[in-house]
Amino acid sequence: MQYIHRFEDGTAFQWPLGKVVCVGRNYAEHARELNNPVPSEPILFIKPATAVQSFAQPVRWPAQKGECHHEVEIAVLIGRDLTQVDEQQAVEGIAGFGLALDLTLRDLQSKLKEKGHPWEIAKSFDGACPLSNFIRPEKVADLADIPVRLTVNGQVRQDGNSSQMLTSIPRLISYISQYFTLQAGDVVLTGTPAGVGPLRPGDQLKAELPGLLAAETQVASE
Ligand code: ZN
Repeated sequence: MQYIHRFEDGTAFQWPLGKVVCVGRNYAEHARELNNPVPSEPILFIKPATAVQSFAQPVRWPAQKGECHHEVEIAVLIGRDLTQVDEQQAVEGIAGFGLALDLTLRDLQSKLKEKGHPWEIAKSFDGACPLSNFIRPEKVADLADIPVRLTVNGQVRQDGNSSQMLTSIPRLISYISQYFTLQAGDVVLTGTPAGVGPLRPGDQLKAELPGLLAAETQVASE
C-alpha cells in the first residue's frame, strides 16, 4: 500500500512516498551523547516506505528487540526528481517541511555498531517512521533557523534548531543526490538534536516545529 503525503490544509501531495533517506549524527551534541565521533561527511541510511506511518497511529515496536529510542527530526518532502543537483536546485526541489520520528532499536543498533555492521534493521521495522503532515516551503523563512522540539508526557526532551546541523538542509539534499536520485514523494530526515532516550508504553509524544507545525501521537500501552 502506498503512503500518500498530506499538507496541513488537507490537500494530498500528488506523488506517493518512495523512500526515506536519513542522516546519522548531523548534530554534534547528539553524536557526543552516544559517544560517536563527529563525522566529517554525512552518514546516510534509508528507511523503507513500509516503515512510515502517520502520527495518528500509535507507536509500536518489536519489544523483544530491546529499547526503542525517540529521535525527533525535521522532515523534508521532495517535490521533484533530483539527480546530482547543487544547493540552489536542492532548495527549489523542496515541496514541504514536516516532522518525523526516526525510531531506533538502540540495543540492537549498539550490537550491530560494535561488530561494524550496517544498522539498517534497527531503524527500518514497520512503524519505525511516524510522519506528520507537511507545511508549504514558503512558510519557512530561513532554512538555517528552523526550531524542532519533542515533548514526552509534558516534558521537553529534545530541543534543537537547524542552525546546529553539521550539514545544512540544502547541502544535505545536494550531497544525497550525488550518490542516488531523490524522487518526488521521497522524504529526507535531517538528523536529530541531543536528548534522545527510551520510550515507554503509554508515553504521550508531541513533536513540533515551534510556531509552524505540531503533531501528537502516543506509544501503545502494551
Ligand atoms: Zn535519526
